[in-house]
Amino acid sequence: MKKPVREIFRRLAARSQDRAMPGSAPGMPITWVADPFKMLISTVLSQRNRDESTHAASRRLFERYDTAEKLAAASLQDVEELIRPVNFHKGKAKAIVEISRILVERHGGKVPRTVGELDSLPLVGRKTATCVLSYAYDLDFICVDTHVHRISNRIGLVATTSPERTEEELMKVVPRELWKSVNELMVRFGQEVCTPLRPKHDICPIREFCDLYQAEKDDRA
Ligand code: SF4
Repeated sequence: MKKPVREIFRRLAARSQDRAMPGSAPGMPITWVADPFKMLISTVLSQRNRDESTHAASRRLFERYDTAEKLAAASLQDVEELIRPVNFHKGKAKAIVEISRILVERHGGKVPRTVGELDSLPLVGRKTATCVLSYAYDLDFICVDTHVHRISNRIGLVATTSPERTEEELMKVVPRELWKSVNELMVRFGQEVCTPLRPKHDICPIREFCDLYQAEKDDRA
């Protein structure tokens, strides 16, 4: 069935209204989100990591190195120590110093504004690139992480097996003016309601539109 996409996102927005900081990536301080460099570096640190330790590491790092120029000139050992709270801290330390060096040498210390330039940076894939472009630069991209991929497929907005395909298919069915909201709304929803295991169908505001819910209901009938 064709999904009422606007209504789905209206309901997701309504449920997260009290919690959401407008324009803020989930759980990330708004001052980092507004700064493309901090947004990029903290998104790299967040890979395969919990929010709490990402924030602790980012905070420690940015207290000492808050620009590409400063981080490019940092000692690797110092950066490793500052970001120790995150997983794979040695590899990430190497990557973020290298990213900073490239930003300084090729982009005047600024974060570039295209997916192609961003995803050529170490440890920066399409997801990190689109997150930075949509949140920090307010550009029309859909940042597809594990929550967006899972929920879009559960609802039946898309039928895909990879985040890359999910992004392509979502761009066809979601009105462009909603693209920037998709990540924030679905991440919050995925953490609180449509969780990876045992999604809370009983409190879900969009279950009447959800293929997974309907399929499970049919199985029980
Ligand atoms: S009904 Fe269940 S599976 Fe569907 S979106 Fe809601 S919580 Fe997720």
